[in-house]
Amino acid sequence: MLDPNTEEATRCCIVGGGPAGAMLALLLARRGVPTALLEMHHDFDREFRGDTVHPSTLEILDQLGLAQRVHSLPSNKISGPTLLTTRGPFTPFDLGRLKTKYPYILMVHQKDLLALLTAEAKRYPGFQLLMGANVVDLIREDGVVRGVRYQTNDCVHELRALLTVGADGRFSRVRHLAGIEPLRTSPPMDVLWFRLPHLAEDIEAPGGAFGGFARGHILAGFDRKDYWQAALVIAKGSYQSLRGQGIEGLRRLIVEIEPRLAKHVESLRDWQQASLLSVESSRCPRWYQPGLLLIGDAAHAMSPIGGVGINYAVQDAVVTANLLTQPLLAGRVSTDQLRSVQSRRQWQVRMIQAFQTQIQRRVIATALEAQEQQGLSIPWFVRAFTRIPFLRDLPPRMMALGVVRVRVET
Ligand SMILES: Cc1cc2nc3c(=O)[nH]c(=O)nc-3n(C[C@H](O)[C@H](O)[C@H](O)COP(=O)(O)OP(=O)(O)OC[C@H]3O[C@@H](n4cnc5c(N)ncnc54)[C@H](O)[C@@H]3O)c2cc1C
Repeated sequence: MLDPNTEEATRCCIVGGGPAGAMLALLLARRGVPTALLEMHHDFDREFRGDTVHPSTLEILDQLGLAQRVHSLPSNKISGPTLLTTRGPFTPFDLGRLKTKYPYILMVHQKDLLALLTAEAKRYPGFQLLMGANVVDLIREDGVVRGVRYQTNDCVHELRALLTVGADGRFSRVRHLAGIEPLRTSPPMDVLWFRLPHLAEDIEAPGGAFGGFARGHILAGFDRKDYWQAALVIAKGSYQSLRGQGIEGLRRLIVEIEPRLAKHVESLRDWQQASLLSVESSRCPRWYQPGLLLIGDAAHAMSPIGGVGINYAVQDAVVTANLLTQPLLAGRVSTDQLRSVQSRRQWQVRMIQAFQTQIQRRVIATALEAQEQQGLSIPWFVRAFTRIPFLRDLPPRMMALGVVRVRVET
């Protein structure tokens, strides 16, 4: 533990113990780079923020020798959803067809994944994990970021570093302090996340997930062994009017979409049981300044379509470590080297965001606007696409494995 009365210094200071920050900290620590990870919360157990660990992340964990440990955490596997449509069950993709050692999404509690990554990083002597450390300012000297000021209880500390990484999520304080403004688009939907119990008479979901639609709302359920993790997709800004109908209104809507959930919804008694994700898609025009780099949601918040947010954040961390470990060890990180992280990652993020926009416009928007329609109708071109073997595997491959496979350079 750092002594607050002495001057603190490290080589790389990472702000934010989410998937991006925790993975980067581990990758740098294992290569011998003195690294401090600062997380404003006192633990990782917070509101639901997604649990989808894709094949791309599993391959990275495999390279780090952690695949077995992540599989031994409470988890289950999803290979593809079955959508309940007007023309019967429809499976838009099947990850089981992908050429990878891990052809499925592993649903793992994010807190468990973060605890695993940071516990592994702690094995290395140059690593420091500072929990309850809220970054409030950047230290700047001659136009270069030289570290951060952070608050613990009533005390403000200074931590100096050669490189500061803002991995502090979609509302990034570091990004704000640096004066970097993301370009935002606001997909016209929000998502309400909640749990439903598993019951004796349950829904069959062979691929581990199901989906349905009614009255301008989409419902998806992911099998979590002990419960269903459910997501209700609603039109942007409609949450307050849904809340106005009381929790019974939410229960009624769910049963309208999926009548077999009539008993399950009795467990919903309070709006506190649901987390609202205000959907945003954004990207920063510039991810860096001298001495500073943004990665993960801080650089680009992703739409929830495809559940890529965690996985793209992890890929950013791997590319950052691949490109910056040597410069960090050598004690000199140039602006060109920081720019190269953005160049490697930015076009892939843009490709996925463009794909998400197409799904949003052509499938989700149509469903959300169809107030009267009672069943989910899949457009003909989507059905045609999924019948052509080469084409049908392209989108899931891009979502699950990344546009380009990212590997840890050891
Ligand atoms: C309700 C919800 C559901 C989601 N579902 C999914 C899903 O199913 N699949 C998926 O892939 N993605 C999902 N996401 C998105 C996913 O959570 C993010 O894309 C991913 O966590 C990004 O990782 P990150 O490390 O960049 O940022 P984050 O995970 O946001 O981590 C940032 C960290 O920085 C810390 N922090 C913030 N400010 C400071 C500060 N000033 N000082 C110190 N620490 C700070 C925060 O406490 C946080 O721990 C969901 C998000 C939400 C909100």
